[in-house]
Amino acid sequence: MVADVVVLGLGSAGAAAATFFARAGRNVVAVDKRAVGETGARWMNAVPRWCFEAARLPPPGGDCLFGGGAVEGHRFHLIAPEARGRLSIAAPPILHVDMRRLVDGLARDAIAAGAEVVRGAVTGVAIERGRVRSVTVASEGGSRELAASLFVDATGIGGAVRGRVPELAAACPMPDEHSRCVAAEYQFAVRDPEGLRAFLREHGAEPGHDLAFSGLAGGYSTVTLFTTRSLDLVGVLTGSIPSLGVPDAGALLDRFVERAPFLGEQLWGGRGAIPVRRPFDVLAAPGVALVGDAACQVHAAHGSGVGIGLVAARLLADATAYASDPGHRDALLRYERSFHAAHGGLLAAADAFRRFVQSASRGDVRSLIEEGLLEERLASAALAQHPVRPDIRFAMSMVPKVARAPGLALRFLPLAARSAVLDRLGTVGALPYVGRALGSVLLSRAVGRAPREAGHGPW
Ligand SMILES: Cc1cc2nc3c(=O)[nH]c(=O)nc-3n(C[C@H](O)[C@H](O)[C@H](O)COP(=O)(O)OP(=O)(O)OC[C@H]3O[C@@H](n4cnc5c(N)ncnc54)[C@H](O)[C@@H]3O)c2cc1C
Repeated sequence: MVADVVVLGLGSAGAAAATFFARAGRNVVAVDKRAVGETGARWMNAVPRWCFEAARLPPPGGDCLFGGGAVEGHRFHLIAPEARGRLSIAAPPILHVDMRRLVDGLARDAIAAGAEVVRGAVTGVAIERGRVRSVTVASEGGSRELAASLFVDATGIGGAVRGRVPELAAACPMPDEHSRCVAAEYQFAVRDPEGLRAFLREHGAEPGHDLAFSGLAGGYSTVTLFTTRSLDLVGVLTGSIPSLGVPDAGALLDRFVERAPFLGEQLWGGRGAIPVRRPFDVLAAPGVALVGDAACQVHAAHGSGVGIGLVAARLLADATAYASDPGHRDALLRYERSFHAAHGGLLAAADAFRRFVQSASRGDVRSLIEEGLLEERLASAALAQHPVRPDIRFAMSMVPKVARAPGLALRFLPLAARSAVLDRLGTVGALPYVGRALGSVLLSRAVGRAPREAGHGPW
């Protein structure tokens, strides 16, 4: 049998794609090497609410959210190294999502809409006359060939199909080690609520707030705490780019836990690698499309791929909706262009910011926060994955800050201005006739090169 669509990978992006295609009446087979109930992210993720709306999915609520949902007066504090400065964002427009429930719910939706689920790992791809025709899937019970008009590679950073299709392997290489953030996120019971309350107070925070300690292991690193108002649960997120010679997420987590006697039993969570670069210019080849981490559809400033992966799945289903052959090059080019036109510039700007932060020293991060160069409006836009558009009010407010940290300001302010340009360049790259090549050159130049080393000593 030839399916309309075979979705490889049932993480958030793949499960959403399988649901959208099945609901549109396509004959869908969804494949994952893990069993339903164990696929995709199994930790807690911060996802902007607008991404659910753009993907036309109901925003998760109730027990799908950390601690039952955001509390009134929720704040996100960005704390500078040595805790000498901080930036507070009021009512950040993000949801703290229990990814186990989101992913499992989407997989159930796909099945309810008629998708057939197959357990197995992608081990081969057959290409005929330049088009992907079938994929080999291996499981304990043996191998089987799945044929389809369209294959959706949603297998995460490894891109199991991407790497086996020469056109994609050349255009979409595995992100190099300096563009891979390793992160861990675990929930802990609270053994000593009063100890936790005192810790929060010490950092100017209240129960229910989030605290992000930035730059402890290099500019691009974090130890972030999520708390509940009832002080019964704490989420601890750690992340860094270990290839830069800094402590990895596991080491950061262990060090934090050692110094946090108020934490009790570790409950659930997980770890993994996140591609932190702008999305590939090429998102499809005949018969195959990339979505989610497989396409590097991640907001690189903080390594967030869930929301934008859901949006990409929706754009793919929409772009191919009226095509009798959903794997036809024209339909897939519509997907690629619509994605880059809407989000390519924003995500390129996020990558430029990531590169800046990755090269920043601990002192730079401290000054950025302490001197107020990174101010609430910019940080809030970045957290919400909205474009950062510095305006005249921003420029005026920077004048006294530039005087206090001139060296850093000279590096940071042009980047802030470049973000606005990148935001628009993304749209140019998506125009027909301008094409992938020119769009790619313009964007790469404007984003800049990834730093090869971190500018600081380890924590
Ligand atoms: C600790 C941590 C914290 C994070 N925090 C955030 C956050 O706060 N906000 C946010 O937006 N993002 C966050 N991220 C990133 C986010 O989790 C990913 O961007 C997101 O999970 C990507 O979804 P996906 O569906 O593209 O891929 P994945 O979730 O990686 O799913 C891929 C699926 O493909 C399957 N698969 C892989 N290879 C094969 C194969 N060969 N054959 C068959 N199946 C295969 C896997 O089993 C898996 O189920 C975090 C990541 C980590 C590690």
